[in-house]
Amino acid sequence: MPAARVVAVAPDSPAASTGIRPGDEILTLNGEAVRDVIRYQLQADEPVVELELRRGGLEQLAVVEKPAGTPLGLELDSPVFDRVQTCDNHCPFCFIHQLPKGMRRSLYLQDDDYRLSFLYGNFTTLTRFTESDLERVLNEHLSPLYVSIHATDPDVRSRLLRNRRGATSLRWLAALLDAGVEVHGQVVVCPGINDGDVLDDTLLGVLDRYPQLATVGVVPLGVSDYTSEPEMREHSTEIAGDVVDTVERWQRRFQGAVGRRLVFAADEYYVLAGRPFPVAGDYEGFPQHENGIGMARAFEADVRAALAGEATAGVGPRAGFFAWVDGAPADGYRAPRGGKSPSRAATSNGTVTPTAIVTGQYGAQVLAPLLPLLRAASPAPLRLVPVRNQFSAATSR
Ligand code: SF4
Repeated sequence: MPAARVVAVAPDSPAASTGIRPGDEILTLNGEAVRDVIRYQLQADEPVVELELRRGGLEQLAVVEKPAGTPLGLELDSPVFDRVQTCDNHCPFCFIHQLPKGMRRSLYLQDDDYRLSFLYGNFTTLTRFTESDLERVLNEHLSPLYVSIHATDPDVRSRLLRNRRGATSLRWLAALLDAGVEVHGQVVVCPGINDGDVLDDTLLGVLDRYPQLATVGVVPLGVSDYTSEPEMREHSTEIAGDVVDTVERWQRRFQGAVGRRLVFAADEYYVLAGRPFPVAGDYEGFPQHENGIGMARAFEADVRAALAGEATAGVGPRAGFFAWVDGAPADGYRAPRGGKSPSRAATSNGTVTPTAIVTGQYGAQVLAPLLPLLRAASPAPLRLVPVRNQFSAATSR
């Protein structure tokens, strides 16, 4: 039976007053074996919550009474208590297959689990999706979800996923959309396979068959030194420019057909193509911010607002479901971000410490135009230090 391990109990919470302790394992909630934090949340919202616990190998019962909707005050060790659904694909562009050996285990997890899609915004290919999954998504209103499309042509899609089921699994996308679920799609572009005419055909397929999609993000594949796929190659400047042109052409077409841009190119494309990012308004609320789409413009807007002493737009990161779920750490499962502003470079004794902003090569291209503004606001000399990724990036980069 799956069990959720308690890692922290909020002081003065209903759970604390019932004597629940870190290390306890929750076996059932109101008689239901809890599979994941989604089911946990539904049961934990009840005014009376009966918990079957295991402590030191012994099982015991705890009953919590509280107003309906009040959190129990527990932090749990994982969002999924049964097994995470792993993928049955063998995508040649898979970034996990391109990792060096010996890194932490969680990096090698090839999840394809609609629950993690709902919880974190992970993309799922739907190749292992079932009728009962659909039923659960609809019954529990698990929306939005994020789906990897890659190509709407069945042959190209199954080739990209290296899975026969890839040819048919987009029927689940149609079923989700028909049922009113909000779905965001993604196309990972592999030059020579699904760019050019195939990308055109994919976006035509979206317009024809899936126009209810909330958005489609078009992102480039990553190629590391550790790839064993000779077919996989990086984007040239020219190919990146072609993708941007295709996406912007389709934005105009989607605007005419469905009244919104619907498709967006990743920031990386604009960097690769040496083109300016679209203006912030063109991102229509930054719905794929966490997928690297509009991040540069949102960041720029936040920096300008912060330097002007105005409230920032607060576009990202989006914690989504975890912003409120009981069972997640206070900051959700994402690392809290933030940090010291340049003005903190001045120490208490009045001396200023030169400051370096250490960033990746793409990040440097986003930050460089903001440097004059940051320098004007900083009491300390400020410099940008782009760092080349020698750990996993292709040697040609
Ligand atoms: S579906 Fe995702 S995790 Fe699975 S092989 Fe493809 S890229 Fe890798």
